[in-house]
Amino acid sequence: MKKNRPINILYIASEAAPLIKVGGLGDVAGSLPEALRKLIPAQISGNELDIRLVIPFHTRINQKLEYIQLVSSFFVKHSHGNIPARVFQTKVDGITVYLIEGGSILSDQNVYSSNPEYDAKKYIFFSIAALDMVKHLNWHVDIVHANDWHTAITCYDLEQRKLSDPFFRKTKSVLSMHNMPYMGSRSDKILNEFGLPTCLCGDLPDWARSMPLPIGMYAADYLLTVSPNYAKEILTPDYGCGLQDFLISRKETLAGILNGLDESKWDPSTDNTLHYNYEPTQLDIRLKNKLALQTEFGLEKDENIPLLMMVTRMDQQKGVDIAISALRMIADKPWQAILLGTGDPVIESACRSLEVEMPTKVRAVIRFDLNLSKRMYAGGDIILIPSRYEPCGLTQMIAMRFGCVPLARATGGLKDTIIDEYHSKQNTGYLFLEPIPESMSKTLNRALADYSDQQKWHRLQSNGLNTDFSWEKSAIEYANIYIKLVEGE
Ligand code: ADP
Repeated sequence: MKKNRPINILYIASEAAPLIKVGGLGDVAGSLPEALRKLIPAQISGNELDIRLVIPFHTRINQKLEYIQLVSSFFVKHSHGNIPARVFQTKVDGITVYLIEGGSILSDQNVYSSNPEYDAKKYIFFSIAALDMVKHLNWHVDIVHANDWHTAITCYDLEQRKLSDPFFRKTKSVLSMHNMPYMGSRSDKILNEFGLPTCLCGDLPDWARSMPLPIGMYAADYLLTVSPNYAKEILTPDYGCGLQDFLISRKETLAGILNGLDESKWDPSTDNTLHYNYEPTQLDIRLKNKLALQTEFGLEKDENIPLLMMVTRMDQQKGVDIAISALRMIADKPWQAILLGTGDPVIESACRSLEVEMPTKVRAVIRFDLNLSKRMYAGGDIILIPSRYEPCGLTQMIAMRFGCVPLARATGGLKDTIIDEYHSKQNTGYLFLEPIPESMSKTLNRALADYSDQQKWHRLQSNGLNTDFSWEKSAIEYANIYIKLVEGE
């Protein structure tokens, strides 16, 4: 049934590209609302969507804005004195974006801090202020779509408000989990100070009842993960982070929708940061980017030596340690590797040690560098993604869009997006099962052997280059869930 006005959706996130991006969530929040806005009614049962984005007004965003307008100011209730909040409005890629300022958002330079209590204060304030905002703007929101623990409290707060405030009576909530193990610790006192009661849901384990992500999950009308495979994995003890029984009880309102890729932002044929642009059919031009990379990093210039890549947060999740051990196991083979990333100092230093140990083969580049990452996707032969878990992963999709072949652990979204020759002749990369160096090095050997067969390798690259990772298909799936929730009101 079609609504006689657009379905109003508030998409709430801690970061969104291009205004502010730290990781994959920033990419998604920067692309999905735009993809939803572009859908035409004929694609979504005649419905129209009015989707708007809200993020904290992080201090770093200021320089990137040309047009901005103050649209609301109010106080967020707090037991130590109500906290003033201001809402600014801007437009990015045709999307209305609200930026909320106030509390510790004002004083913090970083999007995330290493102090959980500090982040809890900031994001619980933001999550509550987002609902205050729609009420002050008198914008009747049909769907609140929150992301990760940082904004999960919006779902929980919404449930409380529904009990007494008719304004929110018909509003439904969706919560996407991009990284389940991060649940928002040390939040109980802060939730209390913001007037939110302890969650009494018997289905949640005791330890989870004062943590933003689990109580947001409990309150949300629909739960989403960012790949279908990860939605299945989290029902098991290995991936469920202790919430698998609760998640099994929510199976009917839990689904996985694969992240898309903003193909206009990741395009080797137009990207002016690359040395040489190329179309999917121009794999020979791609080789020039490889030689340029070898020159840039003082590696032997030889297009026949396989050039391996990592572009990653240096976090236990990403299995950089597994890759380092696997590379040691194949040290006698010809290959080169560039490891780009920042994060855990122990992992960073393990990468630097590998470079010292293998100076003709390895370069460790310890920084966040978007332009370099693009040059690597455009010139590297194989990207290594040995994640211990991976809710979706964008790296493999970007790599395939650039003709760089992924070699990854068969988990989460990696399994949904990479096809190994064991499964289809339309193979796009390599998958290994166990998160251990032995399993990875065996698969590396398989990939290196294939690399010497140019015809086979080009077919693999072309299959990846021709895979459709655009947002449109996923955006329709999101829209259908919104429509289902609104119709079931
Ligand atoms: P996650 O969100 O878990 O970090 P994803 O694979 O979903 O992992 O997304 C990672 C994104 O961050 C990709 O766009 C990748 O290119 C980028 N990225 C990660 N580390 C770096 C880095 N050191 N320099 C540049 N880009 C990076």
